[in-house]
Amino acid sequence: MRLYVDSFTFKTRGPIDVVDITGRVEGIVRKSKIKNGIAHIFAPHATGIICFTEYEEGLIEDIRNTLERLIPSEGSYAHPSNAHAHLRSLLFSPEKTVPIIDGRLGLGTWQSIVFIETDIYPRTRTVIVNVIGE
Ligand code: ZN
Repeated sequence: MRLYVDSFTFKTRGPIDVVDITGRVEGIVRKSKIKNGIAHIFAPHATGIICFTEYEEGLIEDIRNTLERLIPSEGSYAHPSNAHAHLRSLLFSPEKTVPIIDGRLGLGTWQSIVFIETDIYPRTRTVIVNVIGE
């Protein structure tokens, strides 16, 4: 059993920017030379989400509207300025695990790995990938 750890950073454009990170994760899995195992993908941020979804414009619009409906940006919150951003990333976690099969991510045809910015400003984000297997 081997462990390979790597990370990458990127910039987001502000609230509910949805960034496809599938290619970056794939690149790390390739570099790891691990053929079978798992990739754990983690964003060390209090206002960000990692999830699997189809990366399609209409659906991204639906994600924005759904997050706004579930946890409105305007509300009477106790935390200053970005409570809704924290609450959104509390509902949807900042980590995911993907199987690695024959050196490739075992994602479904329409599954992309995306980072969703929930904070109120553009930010620089980091994603840490742990590849475990043999
Ligand atoms: Zn805060």
